[in-house]
Amino acid sequence: MEKLSVRDLSPAGKRVLVRVDFNVPLEGERVTDDTRIRETLPTLEYLLNQNAAVILCSHLGRPKGKVDPRFSLRPAAERLQQLLRERLTREVVVRFSPVTVGPEADKLAKQLRPGEVLVLENLRYQPEEEKNDEGFARQLAALGELFVNDAFGSAHRAHASTVGVTKFLHPAAAGLLMEKELNYLGRALHAPEHPYVVILGGAKIADKIPVIQALSKAADVFLIGGGMAYTFLAAQGQPIGDSLFEPDKLDLARSILAQAERGDFRLLLPVDHVVAQKLEANAPCQVVASIPQGAKAFDIGPKTREQYAAEIQKARMVLWNGPMGVFEIAPFDQGTFAIARAAAGSPATTIVGGGDSVAAMHASGQADRIAHISTGGGASLEFLGGQELPGVAALSPRQ
Ligand code: AMP
Repeated sequence: MEKLSVRDLSPAGKRVLVRVDFNVPLEGERVTDDTRIRETLPTLEYLLNQNAAVILCSHLGRPKGKVDPRFSLRPAAERLQQLLRERLTREVVVRFSPVTVGPEADKLAKQLRPGEVLVLENLRYQPEEEKNDEGFARQLAALGELFVNDAFGSAHRAHASTVGVTKFLHPAAAGLLMEKELNYLGRALHAPEHPYVVILGGAKIADKIPVIQALSKAADVFLIGGGMAYTFLAAQGQPIGDSLFEPDKLDLARSILAQAERGDFRLLLPVDHVVAQKLEANAPCQVVASIPQGAKAFDIGPKTREQYAAEIQKARMVLWNGPMGVFEIAPFDQGTFAIARAAAGSPATTIVGGGDSVAAMHASGQADRIAHISTGGGASLEFLGGQELPGVAALSPRQ
């Protein structure tokens, strides 16, 4: 069902409560990576230009339902003020409410003028947020007159600020970032261009299996790398040495390989590997086609990189989630970087999701060549696994 967009609202002169994802890393009171704040700027700019009074709520870290100054949103609010000033080339009033809900927050919200912003303190200072508590949701809802959810990264959680609030505050619309995520990931799930190449890596096969299953009809080729590849290789009876292995997923891996054999899709596994005895920076390593006993494979080898890059080059749509090796430790980062370069160089519409692959994409310096970099790790995997996200389900339908 198509969801209402912030662009369908008439927010002029109204107080708009916006759920954003300002879950940014902090060092003391300094925001060390403001990407998540920047991602919300289009929605905020839109609302401010429409002369709305904008009230922002977000979680930050895991304060576990208690007030903990280490997780205050104040530094994020200050950073937002600078970013808005740069983007709108004018001063924007950004106020901060030291409480999330209650009389003080009510007062600040009521005093807020059109064109101004109020940032509420961390939602997770309140245990009620994660419990999707009705009373808390009602208090939150009372702060605004319209609701916009732009926090795709939190949409897989049914919390008071993502689901509960929509019971009391209508209409509930998708922000521009949320809309962009749903458009791209929706295409990747339901309406891809072909050939459609899906690259999956990372440590755990269990997280990615639902994605293979949900995309088994849509995808033409799966390229498998990372730790999850070795359970597949073991299922084929190939030697994997002491590489990562999930014995309880062997049957599932076999049934996916059987689907590939039946021709439902192609599934490529690494044909060579970078192996070492120990996982250490600059550990002695070698490239092998067959993993010797006692060795551990920590990256895909050069032949595999070439093969995978050739598939990516031929694709019209590419989806990538999960690193091809232990990309945090050189030299086992080379396979992941090769895929990042191939994805950036491909003429395909490319979508990258998952914290590690996104980080690798940025580190490769070519992130700007990617059509869509998803901001939601867990949320994007659940969405691509075919699950309905509660925060999305709760948005009002477009009439
Ligand atoms: P995930 O959270 O499942 O996407 O896994 C990401 C993690 O997988 C990263 O921390 C990588 O270091 C790790 N990883 C990737 N390839 C391997 C491998 N061959 N062996 C062990 N860990 C790996």
